[in-house]
Amino acid sequence: MDYNFWTRNADNLTSIGSWDVAVVGAGAAGIAAAISAANSGAKVILIENHGFPGGIATAACVPNLMGFDYHGSQIVRGIGDELVRNLAEAGEAAFKVGAEACPDPEPIGSRPIEHAVTTTTHGIRVVANRMLKRAGVNLLYYTRMLGGGVQDGYVKSIVIDRAEGPARVEVKMVIDASGDANFLYRIGAETLKCPADVAMTKTMIFQMSNVRNFNRKTVAAKFRELIENGNNPVATQSVFMGYGELHEGAVGLNYTEIEGDALSSQGLTGMDIEMREQVSTSAKWFKKKFDGFENAYIKETPAQVGIRAGRVSVCDETITQHDIDENTSVENPIGLGLRRYGDHGLKRIKKADRATYKTPRPIPMGALLPVGINNVVAAGRCIGVQPKVITSVRYMGQCFATGQAAGVISAIGAKGDASVHNIVYGDVRTKLLEQGAILG
Ligand SMILES: Cc1cc2nc3c(=O)[nH]c(=O)nc-3n(C[C@H](O)[C@H](O)[C@H](O)COP(=O)(O)OP(=O)(O)OC[C@H]3O[C@@H](n4cnc5c(N)ncnc54)[C@H](O)[C@@H]3O)c2cc1C
Repeated sequence: MDYNFWTRNADNLTSIGSWDVAVVGAGAAGIAAAISAANSGAKVILIENHGFPGGIATAACVPNLMGFDYHGSQIVRGIGDELVRNLAEAGEAAFKVGAEACPDPEPIGSRPIEHAVTTTTHGIRVVANRMLKRAGVNLLYYTRMLGGGVQDGYVKSIVIDRAEGPARVEVKMVIDASGDANFLYRIGAETLKCPADVAMTKTMIFQMSNVRNFNRKTVAAKFRELIENGNNPVATQSVFMGYGELHEGAVGLNYTEIEGDALSSQGLTGMDIEMREQVSTSAKWFKKKFDGFENAYIKETPAQVGIRAGRVSVCDETITQHDIDENTSVENPIGLGLRRYGDHGLKRIKKADRATYKTPRPIPMGALLPVGINNVVAAGRCIGVQPKVITSVRYMGQCFATGQAAGVISAIGAKGDASVHNIVYGDVRTKLLEQGAILG
């Protein structure tokens, strides 16, 4: 790839204006990043390929917000917490409780978020849009980021492809919240492709409606019985992962799975086709084999393959397995991550590669600051983390937290000419605490 192509050619494109902070990607991280940058006084544009916000949560059909709580205590507040409260007020969220994995009938209200939150893809899209608009963020959906123009280690513009054709956006600061460090990769910054043995399975979660009396415990018991007898349409899937959705009779099934290259269009195309076949086959299987599913039907399938790990950025600090195992100290925390790793292993990953510890670990500010570039901040599942332990930061609670921190850092960065690597941590800390974040 010619990483300098847009540096040479961006100025020949029409400029659509200039912003203090441009956020690439409107997933959990990008939503929080754009709102916190705007709330910190920056003029912000949010660029998103899909026609709606939410990223994996909406486009990959995962309206199940985790990472807010860890072993029974709330560890993420701030913008993510506000989104949950707004979803609940709109009648679009409940806690997911008990071994039955069903929505809690008691409203969320002002209770601390000590459970996973079940919501809807529609709810996330609408409520996030309302919050972004209220914060004054300029929303530019249906727009693909193509790359950036860079001079002397600073990004000067982002090149986009809009419905109207290619254009450039002039910027002071950029937040890469693209999930797979797509912006950093395209400007030639140092990134790391997650190796196949730790990139986890790809999945298309799908939803079935008209399920009677769903209870995860009983479905899981029947599931075990069937797979022990070799009766399983997706032969590699050995664990039942399903939950009652917000609305009566709706069930989310985290059942399909495949291995493949999430950073290749050809790879994604093949996985997309194969997993849609898995959805059709397995929906029939659930209807036939499981009590309560007899009259169920497929209600929603994702717009894209669900990618757990693709590419991460190389940053001033990298969260490593050693950090998670030993709970090493963090000098400049910007939020709390989980101390667990090894989920959704491919069959060849052995048990010894999984771990869960009872306490969280702070996420260091340096894990958001990509090396070799002065005005880009990483957020969400593509921050500086050893791919093997990406689960410590990839749940949506953590993506909201790193997004919010990236927004604050960028708003501070946009006020001067200094490199993000020289931003004073105390200033970031003060602003994050003002915005309600938990830092550790
Ligand atoms: C199958 C599956 C199940 C999961 N289950 C859960 C769960 O139950 N609970 C939980 O908390 N987490 C879960 N996760 C993890 C979690 O959903 C994600 O890690 C998290 O949502 C990532 O957020 P993000 O903002 O970092 O990135 P993403 O959600 O990936 O958002 C990135 C955004 O950037 C946009 N983008 C990328 N490139 C470009 C470009 N060139 N131009 C314009 N836009 C671009 C994308 O369209 C996307 O909207 C799951 C993940 C998967 C795949």
